[in-house]
Amino acid sequence: MATAYYLAKNHGITNVAVLEQGWIGGGNTGRNTTVVRSNYLYPESARLYDFSLKLYEGLSMALNFNIMLSQRGLVTLAHSRHDLEAMSRWANAMRMNGVAADLVTREEVQALAPALDMSRRARFPILGGFIQARGGTARHDAVAWGYARGASALGIDIVQNCEVQGFLKQGDRVIGVDTSQGRILADRIGVAAAGHSSVLAKLAGFRLPVKSYALQAMVSEPVKPALDTVVLSPATGAYVSQSDKGEIVIGGGLDLFASYAQRGSFSVMQGIIAGTLELFPSFSRLPLLRQWAGIVDVVQDSSPIIGATPIRELYINCGWGTGGFKAIPVGGWTFAHVLATGRNHELAKPFQLDRFYSGRLIDEVAGAGIAH
Ligand SMILES: Cc1cc2nc3c(=O)[nH]c(=O)nc-3n(C[C@H](O)[C@H](O)[C@H](O)COP(=O)(O)OP(=O)(O)OC[C@H]3O[C@@H](n4cnc5c(N)ncnc54)[C@H](O)[C@@H]3O)c2cc1C
Repeated sequence: MATAYYLAKNHGITNVAVLEQGWIGGGNTGRNTTVVRSNYLYPESARLYDFSLKLYEGLSMALNFNIMLSQRGLVTLAHSRHDLEAMSRWANAMRMNGVAADLVTREEVQALAPALDMSRRARFPILGGFIQARGGTARHDAVAWGYARGASALGIDIVQNCEVQGFLKQGDRVIGVDTSQGRILADRIGVAAAGHSSVLAKLAGFRLPVKSYALQAMVSEPVKPALDTVVLSPATGAYVSQSDKGEIVIGGGLDLFASYAQRGSFSVMQGIIAGTLELFPSFSRLPLLRQWAGIVDVVQDSSPIIGATPIRELYINCGWGTGGFKAIPVGGWTFAHVLATGRNHELAKPFQLDRFYSGRLIDEVAGAGIAH
């Protein structure tokens, strides 16, 4: 939806059809934990994700649709002296890349999130951490629907319940798609199908260095305001925030086996809850309201792919793994650029498929937030 919106808005191209096999926002965008941030390690990633955060900061105005951006800060917890040292390096890398980050003491963490167990006897004692104050959350459905409304108003066709089932080719180039609603011809095609990127690549006749995994999340019943920041604990593998409705939103690591089953396994859920309760013992009294999973497309270096494929006129935007919600604005902006002009956007140049041949990987596994 973001790509379609920017094709129309930035490039004046409106003879575009967005084909969605289900409904708008029914993929990972409607299933994620809504954390937005730009706390990455390498300059290439900092430029990409911070541009995205800046677009988010003006998005409600640009779309005239409230995406409920809440820059309540993202606090990453240090549970050991080693964590503290690694986090100084992380925060320093961010500052070197022009993205503000601050180290925080134990006391400052306590003031930011009083419900945390700060006792010395805690299984994961909290020694401090660092904060990206511009990080926070945005309403996921509003982002999908805001872009959809904006794209539609500019003349884009949105076709729901329309599954792409095959690609039509002439020689080495793509000329259209077969769908559950019939055949559609096109001069140029962009694939942005998150957890099913490699399924679509296979249909088109090439392979992607992508593995798909289930990623789970869950929410409690709504309670009064109890947590006014986003807390991430890499050591326990859990991250927690409170939604505007009052639900405690809990996320964690991947199921460590490849799968297209959108449910996730019980043991991972149990681990995420155990980690959360070590941090917030009082949350043990909250009934869980819902649990779900999405399928995320993970590449070796945890960085995206935005650009050409081995098939002429077929482009792909994928590999965002567990962190592509925050990148929807920049993903759409840069993908629209390459689709409109045939040339990579400056921000997307380092994020091409050929890096898996050249070895110029942008290894953001540590910056990706949760272990995978
Ligand atoms: C539990 C969970 C928590 C997450 N938390 C965060 C977070 O806090 N912050 C963050 O930044 N990111 C997070 N993510 C990742 C983020 O949700 C995704 O990276 C992002 O939503 C991907 O957006 P997308 O538009 O590329 O894909 P999607 O929103 O998944 O959209 C792809 C669409 O393609 C459609 N599709 C697939 N195959 C076909 C086909 N053959 N024909 C037609 N349509 C097809 C699907 O139906 C789907 O609607 C999380 C993901 C999950 C699952």
